[in-house]
Amino acid sequence: MSSYFRPNVEAMKGHTPSHYLKPGSPSIKLNSNENPYPPSPTIRAVLQNLDLEYLRRYPDANANELRQAIAAVLQIPLDWIIVGNGCDELLHVVARACAEGKRQVVYPTPTYMLYPLLTEIQPADRIEVADPADGHLPIESLVAANGAVTFITAPNSPFGHGVAIAELRELAARLTGVLVIDEAYVDFAEETALPLVQEFENVIILRTLSKGYSLAGLRLGFGIAQPQLLQGLLKVKDTYNIDAIAALVGAAAMRDQTYKDTCVAKVKASRTKLAQDLQHLAFRVWNSQTNFLLVEPPQKNAEQIFLALREQDIWIRYFHQPGLKDKLRITIGTNEQNQTLWEGLRQWRNI
Ligand SMILES: *Cc1c(COP(=O)(O)O)cnc(C)c1O
Repeated sequence: MSSYFRPNVEAMKGHTPSHYLKPGSPSIKLNSNENPYPPSPTIRAVLQNLDLEYLRRYPDANANELRQAIAAVLQIPLDWIIVGNGCDELLHVVARACAEGKRQVVYPTPTYMLYPLLTEIQPADRIEVADPADGHLPIESLVAANGAVTFITAPNSPFGHGVAIAELRELAARLTGVLVIDEAYVDFAEETALPLVQEFENVIILRTLSKGYSLAGLRLGFGIAQPQLLQGLLKVKDTYNIDAIAALVGAAAMRDQTYKDTCVAKVKASRTKLAQDLQHLAFRVWNSQTNFLLVEPPQKNAEQIFLALREQDIWIRYFHQPGLKDKLRITIGTNEQNQTLWEGLRQWRNI
């Protein structure tokens, strides 16, 4: 045998995760869209009082307590909710359940790096539709591509703009396959496409606790769809995909909406300020409904700036990708972090 791996796996380049920085390091880490504020303080008591019996036993495969907490917040029935080991796991679950070969995967590009990776793993054919980057979905091309799965990030990533519900509704109505609306950034947005799951049996909305809830290290995400769609997806998820600690911590975080809303409000205020400050430095700044800003430096020397800031232990995101080579993606930090970043950008924008 020439390889231990299936040909599609052999051919994969794989994904390089962003550089890991240990907690407590002085680095300014604005490259992974983490929330700069700590998670809800109610979580500390959950961890301190953890009954070790939770660890001796297998966890609840249905994660009912966690799903109940989510159901209460969203005002939807329990059987409309699926939980995952991060939103990423749910993206895997959809691909595993729905895509293969000519049952292709469709998405606008540039977009979240996991979507192409999933199609390589299956493998499934993929159709990448150029994102016009004008704030509108390329609806006709997406419909023509006719995916078994169509992934839309809403609000958009990496540009950051919101996606109109009317456009998502039209897409849902015209697609015959599953429409995945990846709402990873919805906590920082002005609207949600949630009402569409009531209208369409082919729509699933995905969310994460990594960003709005400051819980990227916990690995929790959830999906909302009609029970019939979820029944198919549940067949392929790992039985015990949510560990006992994550379920308890996630439920506590969901119950503390006030705290999450407070942190989100601070991030949004900082986003407005940083956008203005960068515009004063003649950066082009894309309108954002997320916790990051996509920006273009006046000299278009994005990669040089990225490298220079890295020397100063300030980490932002640079994509070696068509359409993004002259741009930078900056996670919104605390006002203090943003100020340090701004000073770095001011210093380097003319190099
Ligand atoms: C961050 C992000 C995710 C991943 O969320 P996790 O819950 O941390 O796995 C998924 N989709 C998009 C578009 C993201 O930006």
